[in-house]
Amino acid sequence: MSSERPTAERPRRGVMFVISSPSGAGKTTLCRRLITEVPGVELSISATTRPARPGEANGVDYQFRSQEQFQDMIDRDEFLEWAKVFKNFYGTPRSEVEARLVSGVDVVFDVDWQGARALKTIRPGDVCSVFILPPSIAQLKQRLEGRPGSDPKTVQSRLDGAGQDILRWGEYDFAIINDNLDTAFAELRAILMMERIRRTRASMGIMVDQLLKDVGLATKTQSGSASS
Ligand code: ADP
Ligand code: 5GP
Repeated sequence: MSSERPTAERPRRGVMFVISSPSGAGKTTLCRRLITEVPGVELSISATTRPARPGEANGVDYQFRSQEQFQDMIDRDEFLEWAKVFKNFYGTPRSEVEARLVSGVDVVFDVDWQGARALKTIRPGDVCSVFILPPSIAQLKQRLEGRPGSDPKTVQSRLDGAGQDILRWGEYDFAIINDNLDTAFAELRAILMMERIRRTRASMGIMVDQLLKDVGLATKTQSGSASS
């Protein structure tokens, strides 16, 4: 979990790290590993009307809600985005996001293409999006079948839906093939590290002003670039 906060020398807003894939391609596995192994990253826990799978816990994997509770959350405008996926509702609670970004914590979102599109529209400057591809449909099927609580009907419906996700891969900033898990994880981590130092995220205006002053250019910077 996060222990490393950004330093005063390089304050920055957290990254909204949005991850999508067809169901079973491995995004939950990769996201969980990211929050375990990379300091300063936390997961946005979505609310859902889907029943919990064996081993899933309320408040850890999802906020499991009834249809009525989910509707109440919509009515109270508690979601940043929500969507219907595979006959169930999923939503990103606002409470999972803003305070963390302000304190420089990166937030990982495991959402479908609708969620990724919505988050990018709402917060274009904050979002970095990654699409995870399976190495083959045969592998995808095998992974869906191997998941705890899997049944043939669910596997088939998720395979049938895979194309709808894969069709949208071109809307993402990055794409990773999750064949070897370690390689895919290294790539995902590298993308996040790069996003952290994107110039537009850094609040370095004051520091850059000082550098310019020290070389005799008493000018103000705007969005990190010197205005002459
Ligand atoms: P998603 O969140 O995309 O639906 P999961 O992370 O639940 O997918 O992964 C589906 C299954 O595939 C899990 O049992 C997981 O352990 C397995 N898995 C994930 N990545 C790999 C990989 N690179 N190689 C083999 N199995 C994997
Ligand atoms: P699963 O039921 O396998 O956990 O998730 C099914 C799909 O719902 C996945 O594609 C997952 O990324 C997506 N999903 C999970 N939470 C959210 C959310 O808050 N919003 C949206 N739009 N999709 C979500």
